[in-house]
Amino acid sequence: DTAMFKAKEKGRNNIQFYRGDMKEEILRKIELEKQLAEAVKNVEFLLYFQPQFSLDDSNSIRGFEALIRWKSSRGIISPMDFIPLAEKSGLIIPIGKWVMLTACQMFQELCAHYDLDALISVNISAVQMRDKGFVQLVKDVLRETQMEPYRLEFEITESMLIESPKETVELLKELKTLGIHISLDDFGTGYSSLNYLKMLPIDTLKIDKAFVDDIAAEAYSKNLLGDMIHMAHHLNLSVIAEGVETEEQLEFLKATGCDYAQGYLLSRPKEMSSIQELLAKRKEGTKQAEQGIA
Ligand code: C2E
Ligand code: CA
Ligand code: CA
Repeated sequence: DTAMFKAKEKGRNNIQFYRGDMKEEILRKIELEKQLAEAVKNVEFLLYFQPQFSLDDSNSIRGFEALIRWKSSRGIISPMDFIPLAEKSGLIIPIGKWVMLTACQMFQELCAHYDLDALISVNISAVQMRDKGFVQLVKDVLRETQMEPYRLEFEITESMLIESPKETVELLKELKTLGIHISLDDFGTGYSSLNYLKMLPIDTLKIDKAFVDDIAAEAYSKNLLGDMIHMAHHLNLSVIAEGVETEEQLEFLKATGCDYAQGYLLSRPKEMSSIQELLAKRKEGTKQAEQGIA
């Protein structure tokens, strides 16, 4: 039974021999799934926000990416450790709903206090997009939070496209009609077919951290990154580089014409209170500059 469970987990048509350590792993997963279901009931989640900065002279904030954390009795658990399980178990549907609604509510609150011209980016799993109620959920959240739709951005990945390209394009078109921004996340790591890119109704490419990390490496890596940025611009897409950690990377991205950057160098993902502090400081800075103090 354990081997069969493991084989099914790998997908269809798989063979798996039994190993002693498998049982433990499966039991651990079952336990985690139980805890996650409880966490959904008790809403044990937090949202962090990571700002995305413009690379032009304005240094303005383009928007914030909402990133979920699970505040469990064992401490804060990273999404990497529970999102895949949430996707497999279907719990991503209520979790994703909570993320979308909460991100919009918190963003609206920020807008009410600070003079913001920015976006809120929400990660959407392929499982959520396949859910029949997805578009209705989006409409409900927009209405309930009175969000201007063009301030909401969905970060999607290519996995969805590979499974059902036609349906995905249709769905994305429907979302675009609502006015929502679409950004293709982790660009360069998956399929990244030029053919898909051309037919996709998207606005932005997020270049994966792996390419940004390569900036310090050989010249050809730098050229590749530069070419990706130029290609995106030819397709009328804007570009965000993610995982920017060093000044060298930032300078290179600026010089290559990348539009926006996100990463630890500029700001880590932060709780709402820290984002408010950041915005308050920036506001104070602009005021002083206007008065000629700074
Ligand atoms: P992602 O969408 O690619 O998000 C970027 C991840 O990189 C985040 O990890 C962020 O904290 C991290 N990061 C940002 N800047 C840097 C940097 O300079 N250096 C390094 N080393 N890392 C950086 P996080 O928050 O742990 O999220 C991991 C993944 O979990 C996300 O990857 C996304 O796929 C998923 N995820 C997070 N929140 C949600 C959510 O609300 N819904 C869904 N479906 N998935 C989510
Ligand atoms: Ca993302
Ligand atoms: Ca990413």
